[in-house]
Amino acid sequence: MIRAKKSLGQNFLIDKNILNTITSITEIKNKTVLEIGPGTGNLTSVILSYKPRKLIVIEKDNFLVKNLKENFQDNLTIINEDILNIDESSLFKEVVTVFGNLPYNISTEILSKWIINLKDKFWFDCLILMFQKEVADRIIAKFNTSNYGRLSIISNWKLNIKKICDIKPESFSPKPKIDSSLLCFHPKKNFTKIKNPKNLEKLTRIFFNQRRKMIKKPFNQLFNGNKKILEKLNIDLSLRPQNLDFETYYKLVNEFENLRS
Ligand code: SAH
Repeated sequence: MIRAKKSLGQNFLIDKNILNTITSITEIKNKTVLEIGPGTGNLTSVILSYKPRKLIVIEKDNFLVKNLKENFQDNLTIINEDILNIDESSLFKEVVTVFGNLPYNISTEILSKWIINLKDKFWFDCLILMFQKEVADRIIAKFNTSNYGRLSIISNWKLNIKKICDIKPESFSPKPKIDSSLLCFHPKKNFTKIKNPKNLEKLTRIFFNQRRKMIKKPFNQLFNGNKKILEKLNIDLSLRPQNLDFETYYKLVNEFENLRS
């Protein structure tokens, strides 16, 4: 009997329908697949049944790693590490498909880290990740809605995002207290170039610092009231941060970088 550790966000998926939904989102056969947080291996077995070329799993919990090694002999590469310490872009030579049912705070951190660290080439073709429902709603939010914010702007910069489904607590054991959502991310072919993605984090942090207030103050702080930029991007300073669409934010970062180069 495996006792789930709360500290590692261990809620194991037990719902066969959900496991089948997750594994039918994208082609697995002959692909290189990465699963993060395999836990007891419920999703791992289903992924393996689709015959990937290679399956690599990254699990932090030593005890679960031992258990996985006993249950899945040769057809699996098991890395006993914290996903946050892994340099994913140097780990793989080929493009990978990623599945992850991680603790929710880590999912968000990992997603932002992956987007900000992305080099010219994408190291994945598809990310299938589970989030707390409220967080997923913020990731997929469009402008002019109350959920729109930094997370949606950063996530949508280089990725197309699709919500697959919501998942009830009953699909897990032990049952979490919250609803979950499954999201799928694909690389965008075209996206606005930004020299240093940290500037996107910085600019959105300053703009959304006071999300109910007009954008006049953050704009003036960053652009010293530059009227040319306002005209060029057609920005009205009496708007609120949530009223500027994705592209306007990316272009604002371009202007911010131009002023400093
Ligand atoms: N995917 C499995 C388990 C989900 S529970 C299933 O759906 O049944 C979350 C898993 O992530 C646990 O196995 C936990 O030990 C692992 N985990 C938690 N933090 C991690 C981290 N930082 N790096 C890697 N794995 C982690």
